[in-house]
Amino acid sequence: MSAQFSLEFFPPRTAEGVEKLRAARRQLSQLRPSFCSVTFGAGGSTREGTLSTVLEIRGEGIDAAPHISCIGSTVQSIRAVLSQYRESGIRHVVALRGDMPSGTVDAGEFRYANELVAFIRSETGDWFHVDVAAYPEVHPQARSANEDLSAFKRKIDAGANSAITQYFFNPDAYWHFVDAALAAGIDAPIVPGIMPIGSFTKLARFSDACGAEIPRWIRRRLESYGDDVASIRAFGLDVVTDLCERLLARGAPGLHFYTLNQASLTSTIWQRLGL
Ligand SMILES: Cc1cc2nc3c(=O)[nH]c(=O)nc-3n(C[C@H](O)[C@H](O)[C@H](O)COP(=O)(O)OP(=O)(O)OC[C@H]3O[C@@H](n4cnc5c(N)ncnc54)[C@H](O)[C@@H]3O)c2cc1C
Repeated sequence: MSAQFSLEFFPPRTAEGVEKLRAARRQLSQLRPSFCSVTFGAGGSTREGTLSTVLEIRGEGIDAAPHISCIGSTVQSIRAVLSQYRESGIRHVVALRGDMPSGTVDAGEFRYANELVAFIRSETGDWFHVDVAAYPEVHPQARSANEDLSAFKRKIDAGANSAITQYFFNPDAYWHFVDAALAAGIDAPIVPGIMPIGSFTKLARFSDACGAEIPRWIRRRLESYGDDVASIRAFGLDVVTDLCERLLARGAPGLHFYTLNQASLTSTIWQRLGL
C-alpha cells in the first residue's frame, strides 16, 4: 500500500458552516488527499449532513468516506444507512461505536464496533473498505491496555481493512501499539490520526474527553502563551510537524488529519512535510 494522506471533516450544522467548510475544502483539495472522511453524530443525528457532505466532496473529484456509528441504533436504521451509502456509490466507511449522548439510556442493538463491522460484512460483503478506530494511548473506557488491544483485534477479525488512530503527541505510544498489534497477529495498516494545535483550551477539552495525553512540556508551553494565539499556532505547527516527520521517517503508513473544518494549520503542516 502506498502511503495514505487523508483529511477529516465534521458535517456543518448551519448554512454558514457549510460555506466555511466549502472554502476550507477549496484550499485543502489542492493538497490532493487520498480521501476525506466525514464524521457521524451518535444515534444518526448528523446522518443527512454526513451523506450530503460526502457527496459534495465526491462531486469535487476527491474520494470521501462517511463515518458510521452504531451506539443507540437499531439494526434496521444501520441497514438503511448502509443502503443509502451503497446506492450513492460510496465504497469506503469508517465504522465506530460512537458515544452515548449524555442522558440517553437505550444503547440500541449494537454494543461495540466489532459488531458493526461484522454486520457491515454480513450485509454488504466486500463492497466497503472498512476503517476502524485504534487507541495508542488506550481508550478511556477500556478495562486495561490488553483488553483494548483485544477489542481492536476483534474489529480487524470481524473484517476491518485498516485503522485510524485517536490523536497522540507521543510517537512512542504509537509505535508501542503498532508492535503490540503485530505481536497479536494484526498486520492491517494503522494510520496515525494527527491533531493540529490551534487553541490550548479546545485541545485540553478534547484531550480530557477522549483520553489523549498532552505531554507536560507541551501543555506547559501552551499554557505560558495565554491568549497569544499566534505563538500557540507557531509552537503547535513546530510540534506537530516534527511528530509527523518522525512518524513517516520510521515507516507510518500515512497520516490522517483532524482538520476541525479549518484549512490553514493542516495545509501548513502538509506543505512543511513536502507531501
Ligand atoms: C478515527 C476516529 C474517528 C471517529 N469518528 C467518530 C464519529 O464520526 N462519530 C462519533 O460519534 N465518534 C467518533 N469517534 C469517537 C469514537 O466513537 C469513540 O472513541 C468511542 O468511545 C469508541 O468508539 P470505537 O469504535 O473505538 O468503539 P469500540 O471499538 O467498540 O470500543 C469502545 C470501548 O469498548 C471496549 N470494548 C470493546 N469490546 C468490548 C467487549 N466485548 N467487552 C468490554 N469492553 C469492550 C474497548 O476496549 C473500548 O474501551 C472517532 C474516533 C476515532 C479514533
